[in-house]
Amino acid sequence: MRKGDTGFRLCVSCRTFKRQEELLRVTKTDAGYIWQPEPTVHGRSAYVCRKACCIERMRSRRLLNRSFKASVPDEVYEAVPVEENHE
Ligand SMILES: [Zn+2]
Repeated sequence: MRKGDTGFRLCVSCRTFKRQEELLRVTKTDAGYIWQPEPTVHGRSAYVCRKACCIERMRSRRLLNRSFKASVPDEVYEAVPVEENHE
């Protein structure tokens, strides 16, 4: 199933390799940036941990801009599809 792929991806925030299921994926497509696209959607992707600390750092440092070498709109940062816990 893995086709030689290790299944590990780099978090843009903490720069740690994680299993894909621990990460959120955002893909740049012709229609814009899509969080958690269908596996059939191809394009340049970036990954971030499903953890508030990584997501916050990604937002505050605009780390997707660096990954995509582009100016990623604020709404993409705001649209991170994670349920943030109120602890
Ligand atoms: Zn991380």
